[in-house]
Amino acid sequence: MASSGSSRHHKVIIVGAGFNGIVAAKTYLQVDPSTDVLIVDGESEIGGVWSASRIYPGLMYEMPAPLLNFSDFNMCKELGIEMWGDVRGDQVNDFLVRYSQKFDIIKRCMLNTHVDSVERNGIGWKVLVRPARDEKGSLTTLTCDKLIVATGITSKPRIADYDLSKFGGFSFHPIEMGRRHKELVADSVHHVTIIGGHKSALEAVGTCAQAGKQVEWLIKEDGGGPTWLMPSKNPDGSSLAKMSTKRAMSVLSASIYNSSRWIDRFLHSGRWWLGTWIVTWFWGFMTRQVQQDKYTKSENGRRLKPTPESMFWFVPGGTITHDRDLETLRLIDEEKLVRVSRAHMVSVSGHEVKLSNSQSFNTDAIVMCTGWELSSRPIFSPTLAYDVGLPADPSVVPDVEKQHWKILDLAAEKQVLETYPILANPPSNVHIPKSALTPYRLFRFMVPIKMAARGDNTLIFLGNYANGRVQATAEINSLWGVAYLEGLLPPLTSALLRNQKAMEKDIAYIESFRNKRYLNCFPYRLSIFETPEYDDLILKDLGLRPDRKRMNIPSGWRGCFGLRAWVAEWFEGYFAEDYEGIVDEFLKSVGRIPGKPKP
Ligand SMILES: Cc1cc2nc3c(=O)[nH]c(=O)nc-3n(C[C@H](O)[C@H](O)[C@H](O)COP(=O)(O)OP(=O)(O)OC[C@H]3O[C@@H](n4cnc5c(N)ncnc54)[C@H](O)[C@@H]3O)c2cc1C
Repeated sequence: MASSGSSRHHKVIIVGAGFNGIVAAKTYLQVDPSTDVLIVDGESEIGGVWSASRIYPGLMYEMPAPLLNFSDFNMCKELGIEMWGDVRGDQVNDFLVRYSQKFDIIKRCMLNTHVDSVERNGIGWKVLVRPARDEKGSLTTLTCDKLIVATGITSKPRIADYDLSKFGGFSFHPIEMGRRHKELVADSVHHVTIIGGHKSALEAVGTCAQAGKQVEWLIKEDGGGPTWLMPSKNPDGSSLAKMSTKRAMSVLSASIYNSSRWIDRFLHSGRWWLGTWIVTWFWGFMTRQVQQDKYTKSENGRRLKPTPESMFWFVPGGTITHDRDLETLRLIDEEKLVRVSRAHMVSVSGHEVKLSNSQSFNTDAIVMCTGWELSSRPIFSPTLAYDVGLPADPSVVPDVEKQHWKILDLAAEKQVLETYPILANPPSNVHIPKSALTPYRLFRFMVPIKMAARGDNTLIFLGNYANGRVQATAEINSLWGVAYLEGLLPPLTSALLRNQKAMEKDIAYIESFRNKRYLNCFPYRLSIFETPEYDDLILKDLGLRPDRKRMNIPSGWRGCFGLRAWVAEWFEGYFAEDYEGIVDEFLKSVGRIPGKPKP
């Protein structure tokens, strides 16, 4: 479609007004308050996954309140939520709106505007936009010097290829749950089919069963299987999620970012029986803590048991069960309203569904909790997508590059398996899906390597390092991203960013580790336990100290000669508050005065 021709220029355009886009805008303005920043988003409100139109009753944030805090905006204080309390979807939305208001971000947002495509425009970028939900709407051209893509990894639904053309009811993906929730729980709906084995499926089952509907929950036989259902609290009342924020956990989990430490070699190399025993015992203990008697109370419950025996493999991810989910699990075990089947639909006609296990039933609605597409950024042409390091169709990849990456990937795999022999023997009963697309190849999960190597620092991706501590990582990554775009990174990091070979090797190594460690958390791999160490790496790149707790503990006898700091660093959780003031600290380190525009 032709552009309308009108064109507006901004210094920075951010695509996406979710957590990552908003934090990026706020950080840019902190680094240089005079920056002309525009955020473009297709939704009618800010918030992305947590925007008002996408949330629905029953949607919960996985993690407890402190993991949502920003370093300078505390959820518990703002919303009066207790310290380790559960957080509802509408509270996340409220929090994010207040954050955006506090930092005056909302006036910089261009909502209801879909980005159709982005193209090079000399040394900058051209962003072609149209009114959202109007495929035929005329295109407007925006231009910018710097482009930040924060479009989220859960923006493009994956729709399984069931033939629903003869279905007499209605069906949708949970991306529409906010808009269609009322339709689903309406009196006219009696039977609902939920497809999928993850968080969205559990929530959809809960929504329907708690509204008195008959629910058929289908989890296909050969997929990743049901997700681990993890209690929000350990039996001793402590938070399970808190564990993921401790450095000690990254050691027990195997972390790619510090694999050369003696402790990692001791625990994971397989050469020390005591080390191997500690790791095996720990993950056995964790598995029992999480399983409890959850999968033994009913036939339905037994069908929800995850495939691998040990949680070490974390296949296929996990979901935290909140109070509302506990009621759902009770209904599941009661087996009156809910039936769980490890089967897939073979046909749908009228209201009748036939399954692969020969059962059939009638249904009024189908909710397809079938996940997300890897290529959630169709705003780049396939060739440009590959060039900047996004998943792309292999047909656009020149043969010489295919060969180049094959060699790098094989060497990386060898190195990973030598470091972590346990990863060579995944559970045999786990289905490992393969993507038809090339993998993400962004340095530090943010930077297009070819562009960086030739000194073109005009594009950055944020939000690709999926983890359970989104906000802290968003702040740290945003600072790194803005520093990169503004040419403020320290000389050592800048030198690394000019070294394409070193970046390629690093990417191949990390990608190979993630492929082996998070077997089928597909299409995106959620990093859990190595997150504090990834954040450390980003801080070190910025020239900032990663041991934030040690910085605040006195030395000498009051700090018991370093022992207090050591314990805090390894065994206390790391939260956004630990990173308070990093933007100012960084600005001072590069000779800038915080709060002042760029000279
Ligand atoms: C149902 C659900 C529950 C989740 N629960 C949790 C949880 O409990 N804890 C957790 O840590 N994470 C959770 N996640 C992961 C989620 O990705 C993060 O919580 C967080 O929302 C990521 O923020 P983001 O800014 O990267 O992306 P998003 O929140 O997805 O925001 C991306 C934005 O980009 C916009 N956009 C995309 N493409 C275009 C385009 N072409 N034009 C214009 N705008 C565009 C979208 O409209 C969206 O507003 C959940 C995800 C889903 C789907």
